[in-house]
Amino acid sequence: ADAHARYSAARPKSAEIHTRAREHLPGGNTRSVLFYTPFPTAMARGEGARLWDVDGREYTDLLGEYTAGLFGHSEKRILDAVKMALDNGINLASVGVAEGQLAAILCGRFPSLDMVRFTNSGTEANMMALAGARGFTGLSDVMVARGGYHGGVMTFGSEKNAVNVPLPLHFMDYNDAEGAAASIRALKGRLGAVLVEPMLGSGGCIPASRAFLAALREACTETGALLIFDEVMTSRHSEGGLQKLHGITPDLTTLGKYVAGGMSFGAFGGRADIMGVFDGHKPGTLPHAGTFNNNVWSMAAGNVAMGEIFKGEAVTALHARGEKLRAALNAACAGLPMQFTGIGSMMCVHFRSGDIIRPYKAEPSEEKLRELFFFDMLEAGFYLARRGMAALSLPVTDEDCERFASAVTEFVALRRPLF
Ligand code: PLP
Repeated sequence: ADAHARYSAARPKSAEIHTRAREHLPGGNTRSVLFYTPFPTAMARGEGARLWDVDGREYTDLLGEYTAGLFGHSEKRILDAVKMALDNGINLASVGVAEGQLAAILCGRFPSLDMVRFTNSGTEANMMALAGARGFTGLSDVMVARGGYHGGVMTFGSEKNAVNVPLPLHFMDYNDAEGAAASIRALKGRLGAVLVEPMLGSGGCIPASRAFLAALREACTETGALLIFDEVMTSRHSEGGLQKLHGITPDLTTLGKYVAGGMSFGAFGGRADIMGVFDGHKPGTLPHAGTFNNNVWSMAAGNVAMGEIFKGEAVTALHARGEKLRAALNAACAGLPMQFTGIGSMMCVHFRSGDIIRPYKAEPSEEKLRELFFFDMLEAGFYLARRGMAALSLPVTDEDCERFASAVTEFVALRRPLF
């Protein structure tokens, strides 16, 4: 209650924006993930890795737009590419040169991509990948992991949330290699696709073991179900995503988030024979339309983002900075039931000890600490996801990371009686 009161008193303009928005937007927002009580902070402006809210408070942006903001808020080369594209006319209802170039860049980087198609979001990318898999195999059923997240429309992370999934759905437990492989084998002849994040992002930055992914790969190859890696968040972990780091190649991959420099984006792709179901040169192909699929600003920004900026040393340096930060954060809470899981530049706080291999039902005491952590960090000037996730962007500096680690050390000292 104290944290809420202090938070609210410092943010009268955010409170007012929320009250007004609630009149016409249920919950006062149009992205469920941005909602938290008592009301979310409304940001007014961003520059590099800094944010300013409508009440004039400054933050270091450690959320990086849930991984889509990898380039920060004012990367000049991206802004120039977008402006130049728009100067040539807002969407032209035609194919352009930029989309073929971006497709070539992505296929050159991700081991599983022979061919790719673009969408407006990661959500659509997953829906289209499933459509492609079901069309190619002629098999209807799909398997996903409990606690996974594949987008805001078909929210199939749990039996309860799968209200809008119009296909026969099966669930596996994350990192249960034997159980998942057995379920896949039991569904042979029905199961067309297994869709999985190689690290759960929204589910708490919980990495998959290589053994789990390898077991999925083997069972899918054996039964004819297609293995789809949702790398919408994890593709940043190497030039060719987590699939390249693990040396495990899925049949299809979905991408999104930062790939178009922060503009709206999604992509799905994979083996040439599978993606051939969308080839208009062939008879009986599956449709895949979408007014903004090749919008000129995303395509232009994507070329610069992936072709010129986020490659080589930039990828490894961001990964290393994240690893170093996570080690410092874990050192700050050593010995307590608190830890930061993740890979490279993505991490999430958990208030329990022991290995975390899949999502869990948190105790009320854990939820309380998680909430306090979020509000204490905001107070200290660090913007994170409400669930305690951070995703570093390129403009975040070592000094920013050191300040954050110090803030976490202070949190641990102040809140120790609650652990
Ligand atoms: N897949 C994963 C792993 C995600 O984390 C997200 C978004 O958070 C999506 C898919 C959906 O992407 P979008 O929000 O662009 O629809």
